Amino acid sequence: MQAQNHSGSCLCQQVTYQVSGEFENFFLCHCQHCKKDTGSAHASNLFSGTAQLNWLKGEDKVKTFTLDGTRHVRSFCQDCGSAVPNIQFDGALLVVPAGSLDTEVEIEPTGHLFCRSKASWQANLSQATKFEDFPQ
Ligand SMILES: [Zn+2]
Ligand SMILES: [Zn+2]
Repeated sequence: MQAQNHSGSCLCQQVTYQVSGEFENFFLCHCQHCKKDTGSAHASNLFSGTAQLNWLKGEDKVKTFTLDGTRHVRSFCQDCGSAVPNIQFDGALLVVPAGSLDTEVEIEPTGHLFCRSKASWQANLSQATKFEDFPQ
């Protein structure tokens, strides 16, 4: 089977990367750390134990933060703050923020993690009014 390629970038476009290979898991994490770090309801990360990450540019702009006393790691562009990929567990696990990809994600979310920490305002999200763009 041919290896799949994905590419992604940060908001300011100074950091760009490519991923060769497949993602095995796609988790939406609702834990307290992910809510703080994304400023949103959950993190949306793709995981691979086999794919290769190559920075195309801006690797020197990438900062990695590990929360003291936890395994919570976040990598981001130091200029625009966008989440970018990182490699965890001594190189064993590639973690790619799904929203940073510019290419299609082929797999559906595997599951929701830490649902016990879910934001209360998420309960009826599917019922919220949907606009194609800003409200008119
Ligand atoms: Zn950036
Ligand atoms: Zn989390």
